[in-house]
Amino acid sequence: MAERLIVRGGTVVRAAGRLTADVLVEAGRIAAVEPRLPDSIDAREVDALGLLVLPGVVDVHTHTRLASDEQPDRFYEDSVAAAYGGTTTFLAFNNPGTGSPRTGSLVEDVVAWRALTKGDSAIDYGLSLVITPDERDAVAELPAVIEAGVPTFKAFMVYDFGVSDATLAEAMRVAGRAGGMLQVHCEDRAALRANTERLLAAGQTAPRFHADSRPPPVEAAGTRRAIALAEQSGAPLYVVHLSCAEALEEVRAGLARDVPVFAETCPHYLALDESCYELPDEECACYVISPPLRSPTDRDALWSGLADGTLALVATDHVPDRRSVEKQDWRQSFDRISNGGPGIETLLSVVYSEGVARGRITIERMVDLLSTTPAQLFGLANKGAIEVGRDADLVIFDPAERRTLTARELHHTSDYTPYEGMAVTGGVLSVIVRGELVIRDGHFVGQRGYGSFQPRRLAPGSYSSRS
Ligand code: MN
Ligand code: MN
Repeated sequence: MAERLIVRGGTVVRAAGRLTADVLVEAGRIAAVEPRLPDSIDAREVDALGLLVLPGVVDVHTHTRLASDEQPDRFYEDSVAAAYGGTTTFLAFNNPGTGSPRTGSLVEDVVAWRALTKGDSAIDYGLSLVITPDERDAVAELPAVIEAGVPTFKAFMVYDFGVSDATLAEAMRVAGRAGGMLQVHCEDRAALRANTERLLAAGQTAPRFHADSRPPPVEAAGTRRAIALAEQSGAPLYVVHLSCAEALEEVRAGLARDVPVFAETCPHYLALDESCYELPDEECACYVISPPLRSPTDRDALWSGLADGTLALVATDHVPDRRSVEKQDWRQSFDRISNGGPGIETLLSVVYSEGVARGRITIERMVDLLSTTPAQLFGLANKGAIEVGRDADLVIFDPAERRTLTARELHHTSDYTPYEGMAVTGGVLSVIVRGELVIRDGHFVGQRGYGSFQPRRLAPGSYSSRS
């Protein structure tokens, strides 16, 4: 059993408000949150005077690579990076290309993925499955997979491993009935293909043309169609990585019609913009992410959407591509470049600094967006809030710290950060996972394999942030 711990004197932040309080941790769970706990309690003390005490961040969108013979520490190292950033639970996808076993059966994929990740993670973790055309009978297997503690699924409207609209509709319906939820990468395949062919035919092959191939209408059209499918089946839809005002308006319209749609955005859409595509080609390739970075107007619209509840949460879409390896294809043409960028370590930093410190959202709203709603929406009932009985997943955060983000000081398995040179306000000092210190005063003190797989069960109708 974990020892008893008191986090003393910090400002405890919840989605509904904040208070100065001591937090008592017993057996890995929060046992009390009181303005002043007696000094007589026999417990190890963590001083949080003048600091914020936040619930650990729950990152529901990562493409963490699995350990391999060449890189046995890869899954572990990204879990450590997440911990440094204040994330205490992450959900990974088993995309093709991540080293995840793909057996042709979703049920067997879960078993194989769990075996391969067992004993690796330093923090708690879970799995969301990717549905591709390569599984023998993916839709029929969904209820069994949901029963096995994996109730969320990503399906793509584009890419080689994207599925047809017919499969998408059927998967959404079957998953919804069985207590699951589809996470959809919304872009219009036909429009994207036409744009790409036109650009390539005109010799416009440089990385920056990636953005021209996927303008906002491509995303908005896909988003609108996915929402229509959710509307007709009544099943919940989760729109991943929403990036622009046009797609946001589709979500807003869907919500106004009571469609059960939840939308996520990502830190890179909140902190960066399309000016990154003016960089030299090799740099530019680092920002080849789908959807692409958008205009400052889109960025402002996303912040408004986070503040007013149209967007449900923020997650990273972490892809630990390396400029020296996966991004090298920029020399060929933009459509050959691996999509994605790293972010597992910088989520809280970027959202706090760009959002809370700049007055775009409140600290309570940030906690809701990064911890409480992701835990609730993704079936992590013990996570996401500093409440008695929940897992003691805590971040001691110094709101006054100032630092500059640089890949040299990050711990993820990518060799760059999209935020290189960005000045941020606020810093993670210590991180506690189920009552155990994993980061202490900025240093990793956790253990490989401490993190435990989180079987999940969605709780329909209990989502908190739809105000
Ligand atoms: Mn995607
Ligand atoms: Mn993704």
